[in-house]
Amino acid sequence: MDLGIAGKWALVCGASKGLGLGCAVALAREGAHVVMVARGAEALEAAAAALRADAALPAGTQVLTVAADITSVEGRARVFAQRADYDIVITNAGGPPPGDFRDWGRETWIKAVDANMLTPIELIKATVDGMVARGFGRIVNITSSAVKAPIDILGLSNGARSGLTGFIAGVARNPKLAAANVTVNNLLPGAFDTDRLRGTMEGASKKTGKPIEAIAEARRKAIPAQRFGEPGEFGSTCAFLCSRQASYITGQNVLIDGGAYPGTY
Ligand code: NAP
Repeated sequence: MDLGIAGKWALVCGASKGLGLGCAVALAREGAHVVMVARGAEALEAAAAALRADAALPAGTQVLTVAADITSVEGRARVFAQRADYDIVITNAGGPPPGDFRDWGRETWIKAVDANMLTPIELIKATVDGMVARGFGRIVNITSSAVKAPIDILGLSNGARSGLTGFIAGVARNPKLAAANVTVNNLLPGAFDTDRLRGTMEGASKKTGKPIEAIAEARRKAIPAQRFGEPGEFGSTCAFLCSRQASYITGQNVLIDGGAYPGTY
């Protein structure tokens, strides 16, 4: 299927690794020009170089980078100095740390809300009017399955991302956006084989004294698909949500979790 997004400009945040990189690869393979953002310049340049060398990229597809902290005003200014008008925006930044809510003060909460709620809202604010004017826009927020099935030690994530989810439910249904072919959706990962998942399992291993292999095996067995997701399949779903064909899908929370969420709805 031709997703009809060749030549569109995509901003992909958190794109040097993991799920963000999966999205950048899938969009670029469809011929969308991508601007990849992450803080660490070395990993970002390596990821961009590998993508430029990808034989599946249509000729002329541009892959640009901005090494910046997307949660900072200054970082976002640098991203928009690179290019102001994006047709596709994938919001993403690292997830907040696990812990006990008794240990989290105001500063910790502000940081989590800033990264996982206010940053996506700022990115939407900066791009959505241009999308409406051009009659095409796709915004995909990488959130978490924890929005539907909260995880107790990830209270910062559960809370901050739920705030974003409520905001998106409203803004996506604004007729000025939806009738102008501008869609806003959330993509909710379950357990994906990325550095973040490995880091979480290492933390659990240290805390419990169980070997990391045993922790990974138990986690895998709890997923009906009996495996972790691959960033490539996450990216493909993201690219479909960004396609011309997906213009009637907006305001949705799309779970991609191998069947792990146990509810009917
Ligand atoms: P990952 O493998 O750790 O990759 C995170 C990417 O985001 C890296 O490229 C990182 O590069 C970049 N990044 C982090 N903070 C940033 C910032 N402030 N500004 C710009 N770039 C930033 O993580 P992932 O597994 O792909 O996770 C992506 C998102 O999905 C996270 O919010 C995570 O909580 C959520 N999630 C993941 C899973 C899973 O199983 N993997 C499950 C549920 C939810 P730099 O560090 O160099 O900036």
